[in-house]
Amino acid sequence: MERLINPVETERFARILDDKKRIVLTCHVRPDGDAIGSTLGLAALFQKLGKEAKVVVPDMPPRNLSFLSGFKDIAVYSQYETYCKRIVDECDLIVCLDFNVPSRQDHLAPLIQGSDATKVLIDHHQNPSDFCDLTMSYPKMSSTCELAFRIIADLGLYGELDLDAATCLLTGIITDTRNFTVNCQNPDIYEILMRLLDKGADKEAIVKKALMTVSYWSLKLKAYALSEKLEVFDRHHAALITLDKDELKRFHYERGDTEGLVNEPLDIRGMAYSIFMREDDDCVKVSARSVDGFPVSKICEDLFNGGGHLQAAGGEFYGPLETCREKLINAMADYDRFLPADIEKISR
Ligand code: 5GP
Ligand code: MN
Repeated sequence: MERLINPVETERFARILDDKKRIVLTCHVRPDGDAIGSTLGLAALFQKLGKEAKVVVPDMPPRNLSFLSGFKDIAVYSQYETYCKRIVDECDLIVCLDFNVPSRQDHLAPLIQGSDATKVLIDHHQNPSDFCDLTMSYPKMSSTCELAFRIIADLGLYGELDLDAATCLLTGIITDTRNFTVNCQNPDIYEILMRLLDKGADKEAIVKKALMTVSYWSLKLKAYALSEKLEVFDRHHAALITLDKDELKRFHYERGDTEGLVNEPLDIRGMAYSIFMREDDDCVKVSARSVDGFPVSKICEDLFNGGGHLQAAGGEFYGPLETCREKLINAMADYDRFLPADIEKISR
């Protein structure tokens, strides 16, 4: 496996770890498999090294990750503010995982930023801001979990990685690569998979639980969205799905229920990108996915105060869902220049 992590950074991280005892691991709002996998995975490893390690997240993680060891001990800031505050106040190291700017933590950001604990960033998003004492930023990695595995290996700690930690890391790799269908061209990822399987991680069980298990209402909601709410813009090779509050309520929406929905329209021949807008309590949550290098991260940056990866990005819009929808539709033509010249017609 090629060594991709700057050894100077690994050495600095090792020295920081040496003299820290109480560690907080934290991630972005609306945490996904990579955010929860990397925080819980590293927490399990640090606990094995005799440290006190706790995971503090901005809001509730999705239920489909509840099989991960340590899940029930996650401190959720939106529910237990005082408890989270105490943990953060008492820690001497904060490891920030799977986000690149403080604002991605929403209302948890001031607490983390206000702490004088040493901070380390371990992340795979582009353009991290300079808010940590040590920044380990590798945007080419498939996932923060891949990055965490490489750091663990370089630290000489592979031997300490147990089944629980391996399961967490493999979960993040599987969810961010959609079970090895995107961002998985680097052969190293399969060596990492092999090493995690060697630890006993059950890939089939993870795929089933993290990616394929949905509730009755989640399936109904997705079916409704695809059958009734999918808009296809042939000229722009774009798909759009919007779901408003009433629709979500009608299908008993719970956090995580629309996970993966945005990917579905990309299966249509000739589709370059797909956008999903969901009317949440505080904002419209925008999710975007693309194929063939179409830069949906740019759309999310330009229009929705967001960002992410070239082919998987997101953002937020503060205003009515319909305005958000129109904003995108009105701007679509501006992004036609990024479409591949030889793109097929949309298959009807
Ligand atoms: P998802 O569509 O699964 O919510 O997010 C896909 C990716 O887009 C995430 O991994 C993250 O990199 C990025 N992303 C999602 N929402 C936001 C956002 O509100 N702001 C920024 N900067 N990135 C986001
Ligand atoms: Mn990630």
